[in-house]
Amino acid sequence: MNILITGSNRGLGYEIAAEALERGHHVLAGVRDTAAPGKLAELAKPYGGQLELVELDVTDEAGVAALAGTLRQQGRAIGAIVNNAAILVERNTPIEQLNIEEVAKTFDINLFGPMRVAKHFLPLVTEKHGVIINISSEAGSISNAYPGDYPYGISKTALNMFTQQLLSAVRERGIQVLSVHPGWMKTDMGGENAPTDPRQSAKGILDMIEGQLVPKGKFNFVDYTGKEMPI
Ligand code: NDP
Repeated sequence: MNILITGSNRGLGYEIAAEALERGHHVLAGVRDTAAPGKLAELAKPYGGQLELVELDVTDEAGVAALAGTLRQQGRAIGAIVNNAAILVERNTPIEQLNIEEVAKTFDINLFGPMRVAKHFLPLVTEKHGVIINISSEAGSISNAYPGDYPYGISKTALNMFTQQLLSAVRERGIQVLSVHPGWMKTDMGGENAPTDPRQSAKGILDMIEGQLVPKGKFNFVDYTGKEMPI
């Protein structure tokens, strides 16, 4: 299966790419700068053409559209999209000091990014058994609201709404759309004290893509083990 992953040069995106390659999938690894692919350069070596680096800055709609157009011209289909790229800024900043420009930047990447990708790549997604996974966070659960992380939390809540909206638009075509909380992971974003190995989260996400793990819940917001998340 062809799997497109945004933000795949490090963190969870990298681990999803590595796990997908190990399972024999073809990976379109989205990175902002293909000239600086980070750890992906090493990963590519044993896999040859199975790993394809693609330039993908999710804030650049023209770039997203151009990539989708190129793949379309090549007659390519996408089995799964993982909207993984995100930022976490203005951490614990009280509302009185919040920088609204940073809020807007967060929305641009965490929410508008997946929207741009869905907008331009949906025509390439395989009808019947296509999967779109929006990587969300427990920080987006309204019922778990905590002070701080305003832009990040709100962007993920809105992303969960987008998941439901998109699902209702494409369900009849046999395309699954999910918001997945990957756990608190040891990555640049999650930090060293995080308990979850991002590879473990990647395995759960691949199981969902491959249909081995069928998430249960009223809303399509689950953790990486398929357990329902509170909205
Ligand atoms: P990292 O900060 O480790 O990595 C973020 C990735 O996103 C990088 O590859 C980065 O690329 C990419 N990125 C940032 N901005 C853009 C952009 N404009 N266009 C394309 N790519 C971009 O994050 P994690 O791996 O920890 O997080 C992955 C996902 O998991 C995110 O959606 C996050 O919200 C979610 N999550 C993470 C948790 C955690 O504990 N880590 C907990 C819950 C959810 P570059 O190197 O170029 O900056």
